[in-house]
Amino acid sequence: ATPAATMVGTTIGARNGVLFKGGDVLETVRDIDTVVFDKTGTLTEGAMELTDVEVVGPATDGSGPDAAADGGTLEERPELTEAFVLELAASAESGSEHPLAEAIVEGARERGVDFADAEEFENVPGQGVRATTEHGEVLVGNRKLLEDNGVDTAPAEERMDALEREGKTAMLVALADDGDGDYRLVGVVADADTVKDSATRAVSDLRERGLDVWMITGDNGRTARAVAEQVGIDPDNVQAEVLPEEKAAAVEEIQRDGSRAMMVGDGVNDAPALATATVGCAIGSGTDVAIEAADVTLLRDDPADVLKTIRISEASLRKIK
Ligand code: ADP
Ligand code: MG
Repeated sequence: ATPAATMVGTTIGARNGVLFKGGDVLETVRDIDTVVFDKTGTLTEGAMELTDVEVVGPATDGSGPDAAADGGTLEERPELTEAFVLELAASAESGSEHPLAEAIVEGARERGVDFADAEEFENVPGQGVRATTEHGEVLVGNRKLLEDNGVDTAPAEERMDALEREGKTAMLVALADDGDGDYRLVGVVADADTVKDSATRAVSDLRERGLDVWMITGDNGRTARAVAEQVGIDPDNVQAEVLPEEKAAAVEEIQRDGSRAMMVGDGVNDAPALATATVGCAIGSGTDVAIEAADVTLLRDDPADVLKTIRISEASLRKIK
C-alpha cells in the first residue's frame, strides 16, 4: 500500500477499533477468501456457567468395573449424590484457571456445596484435570482423559450426548478412592457458554460476501456442531477436538487448497494459528500473546468487526492507488 493508503486505512481503522500492524496488512486483508473463527471467547462470550450435575455410576451389568463387586466403596457411600459429584469436580478444578474449571468452582459456591482445594493438581491440556482431593484421586475431563485412564465411559454416553446436542460442554467425573488407583465413573457435569449476540449476523454477512467461514475448537464435535448451527456455519466447516498445539496445523489444512484465511481468535492457544494464517486477527480482550502474534487487533469484542476490517482495507486501497 502507498503511504497515503496506509495512513487512511490505519486512521479509519483506529477510529473503529481496528488496529492494523503496518500497511502491507491492508493489502493482505483485501485478498482473503476464508475466515476461520475460534469458538470459545470469539464466537461465544467465553463466560461459562455450570448448568448440569448428574450422578452416573459405573456399569452394573457385570461387564464393566463394578463398585459393588470389588468391595465397592462407592456403593457404600450414601453421599453418592449430585452434591458429592459437584464437590469432587470443584475440588479437582480448584487449581485450574481454565474457564470450564472456574465455572464449576463458581457453580459449587453458588449451590452451597463445600469443597476443599485439591492437594495436588495436574492440568492435562485439551483434556481436563487430574487431582488429589480429600476423597481420593479425581479426574474431570473429556472422554479421552477418562479412557486413557482406563475408565469405561459408556454408562455416561447417553447423558453426554444429550448435553452436547444442546451445545453444552459435558465433562466426566471419575474417582479412585480405594487405594488401588482404579478410577470409577461417578458423574457428569456440564458448562454452557452463550453465543455472542452479533455472531450469527457476522457469519451470515461474511458468507453473503462469498467468504468461506470455518470454526476451530478444542471442544468435542457434537457441542461444536450445535454452536456452528446456531451461528450459521456449515457443519462440514467445523474442526473439533483440535488440541492447542494442533490449531496451527488445522489452519494449514484449511489453506492447503490455496485459500487465504483470516484466523480470528482470542486466546494464548490461538497464537500459533494466528501466525500461520494469511492474516491473524486477535479479538477483544485477547491475551497479549494473541495480540503479539496477530496482524490485526479488534479492540471491541465483536465478530462483526471482521467484515468491517475487510471493508476498511478495500476502501483505503480503492481511494488511493
Ligand atoms: P477450547 O479450544 O474450546 O478453549 P481446550 O482445548 O482448552 O478448549 O479444551 C478442550 C476440551 O478439553 C474441553 O472441551 C474439555 O472437554 C476438556 N478440558 C480442558 N480443560 C478442562 C478442565 N480444566 N476441566 C475439564 N475439562 C477440560
Ligand atoms: Mg478461545
